[in-house]
Amino acid sequence: MAETDVYIGLGSNLADPLSQLGRAVSALATLPQTRLVAQSPFYASRPVGPQDQPDFINGAVHLRTALLPLALLDALQAIEQAHHRERLRRWGPRTLDLDLLLYDNQVIDEERLSVPHPELVNRDFVLQPLMDLVPHLQLPDGRAIAQLREQCPDNNLRRLHPEPGNLASPGHDD
Ligand code: AMP
Repeated sequence: MAETDVYIGLGSNLADPLSQLGRAVSALATLPQTRLVAQSPFYASRPVGPQDQPDFINGAVHLRTALLPLALLDALQAIEQAHHRERLRRWGPRTLDLDLLLYDNQVIDEERLSVPHPELVNRDFVLQPLMDLVPHLQLPDGRAIAQLREQCPDNNLRRLHPEPGNLASPGHDD
């Protein structure tokens, strides 16, 4: 069966976020008909929306999968549920958030699924990990991730793991 390159965004700000993300990457790597190609560094950033909540930890993974888009979304939501995700309010704290950022070069506009993920272009904590995975990545409309990253608002992004010196890409940190 044909395999497709997909990119998943991961986020958490509750219940030991780094371990949530680590376990989520393992769960993604063991999805059926799917393999993990690469994992980005993890970043901390200020929350979008309500500020009375912990900082978020975010990252992204590159998968190659034979799952169709809605089947992949079902799988992501099952992993979120397995992490006892709580979603108390919009943009509020959460144990695990998994977003289907890009599915090959496809544009999908369905009730349950919009791809590319609509908020991708506004979020440095999504664009930066994507750039770490594929520096020259482009959206289906031809826009370059690197240029969008330069233009988007600053959420005080700090690279956490692995430490900046351990990767070839420049990144930044305190
Ligand atoms: P949230 O968890 O707040 O990011 O939103 C989850 C909802 O967004 C679910 O009902 C999904 O069906 C919907 N959704 C639409 N597009 C996407 C996407 N690209 N990735 C993940 N969820 C999506």
